Amino acid sequence: MPSRATAGSGVDALLPARHRGSDDPTTVKLARIEPLTHALGPGARVVGWVQGCALACEGCVVPESHATGGEPWPVDELAARILALPGDRDGLTLSGGEPMLQAPALLQLVRRLRAERPTWTFMSYTGYLRSVLERRGSEGQRALLGELDLLVDGPFVARRAEGTTLWRGSSNQRIHALTPAGRRALQGYDLDRPGITEYVLDDGALRWTGIPPAGFRTAETEVPRERALTWTQVRATSGKRVRREPDHRAATASPDHDHEEQG
Ligand code: SF4
Repeated sequence: MPSRATAGSGVDALLPARHRGSDDPTTVKLARIEPLTHALGPGARVVGWVQGCALACEGCVVPESHATGGEPWPVDELAARILALPGDRDGLTLSGGEPMLQAPALLQLVRRLRAERPTWTFMSYTGYLRSVLERRGSEGQRALLGELDLLVDGPFVARRAEGTTLWRGSSNQRIHALTPAGRRALQGYDLDRPGITEYVLDDGALRWTGIPPAGFRTAETEVPRERALTWTQVRATSGKRVRREPDHRAATASPDHDHEEQG
């Protein structure tokens, strides 16, 4: 049975091999995992950053994620680690690096987690356009699209990095609700809010998650410890608006925007 993302669509010539990534369905090459965040998607989420990206967007805030490598995690072990986390979550967000370069393994991870956590939503970032992945992606990439509830697509564009981009690094990037669960998860969120950055102090180390302001990495080493947010403060900045104007969200949270084609 064709995936939701590919049903009825033909596939053009595949992306070049370096943009199709790994065929390995058993192992995720991970850069980092954050057990709880409110900064990268709706609700309380686990975030997994994969290692490796072939796009090299100018001004990328995580250039250390571009090289291949990372910590190899068998899908079973990674799923077990996530399922063992204490506390409730609303879903998993995949980021990077480029998740679509590890699509077969992430597909298996999402399927295993969904079987155990049927109320979770599964979200992924990608520097590729959804339309390009649907037309020219590998079988694994199109299958992963078919398993996701939410997708943030498009490369980071530094000149469009300022402004109203909740969960997105630049305003060209689009949030796609791919399933009814994804659409429900977006209800009540003002997608025109500025991005959120969380700081977490853990055993004296400062970590950050989310959408940092321009120039953040230059200033990162100077972030004083007292700026680190507690979880209580993080919840207060989670992006969910208190009052909703009925017509506004419909204009900004359309699940499928037309957008410029990726070259
Ligand atoms: S796709 Fe993401 S990780 Fe890759 S270069 Fe662009 S912003 Fe950086």
